[in-house]
Amino acid sequence: MPTPSNTTPADVDHGAHAVLESVITCPECGLSRLEVMPTNCCQFFYECVGCKRVLKPAAGHCCVFCSYGTVKCPSMQVQGGCCA
Ligand SMILES: [Zn+2]
Repeated sequence: MPTPSNTTPADVDHGAHAVLESVITCPECGLSRLEVMPTNCCQFFYECVGCKRVLKPAAGHCCVFCSYGTVKCPSMQVQGGCCA
């Protein structure tokens, strides 16, 4: 796009690329936080900054972002499956 944009970092990368930012919501305390997902591997553990509880994916999910995030992990977005 030729127009100089005032897009925020959260708005870039919406093309063929996977979205790397996901808002993860803690099921324990309900705290939501924007996190950047790793592209090389799924993140299995996530420590909530609110209650310090370590979250793990729900059954059948490959990572915490698939379970608790607003966006599925990059592996799911690009390959349609987990990297593992
Ligand atoms: Zn929490």
